[in-house]
Amino acid sequence: MDLKQIEKAVREILIAVGEDPEREGLRNTPSRVARMYGELFDGLKQDPARHLVSSFTEHYDEMVVLRDIPFNSMCEHHLMPFEGKAHVAYLPDGKVVGISKLARVVDDFAHRPQVQERLTSQIADLLMESLQAKGVAVMIEATHTCMTCRGIKKAGSMMVTSAVRGRCKADARTRGEVMALLRR
Ligand SMILES: [Zn+2]
Repeated sequence: MDLKQIEKAVREILIAVGEDPEREGLRNTPSRVARMYGELFDGLKQDPARHLVSSFTEHYDEMVVLRDIPFNSMCEHHLMPFEGKAHVAYLPDGKVVGISKLARVVDDFAHRPQVQERLTSQIADLLMESLQAKGVAVMIEATHTCMTCRGIKKAGSMMVTSAVRGRCKADARTRGEVMALLRR
């Protein structure tokens, strides 16, 4: 990532909005923002699949659920943060992973310019593929600062998205069960 280029761009924005980038409070802002973007977008150079390589064989064929995974991401339409919680469930087919790996997958996908809908389906698709799971369900609840701070300014409103794959989609009973677990 080109931090110097980000610095230059932030300085340009400050000038464009009519500020003085040399005044004391703003002098280090471009470099601070550059480092912050480096962190917020560090998922761009990561392959989230790497967290799922070390799965282990387990004869467990019930639902595995990890709820309330906190995450923050950046709305690619406004470059404003959105944050909330991801709830992830999968129905293993002989392969399971350590639960912390699920949270790491969420972070890698979240730390990119994103939209919530794509974030949700990317997590679901990767789990389905890498774990060869029988089914996957992902639900994300998030508040978007591009909606709470500007535009229609609806503070507190929460966007909910879900993605279901495999048996969690095809089988009505499984789907009902998993959605109840995610919503609780
Ligand atoms: Zn937005």
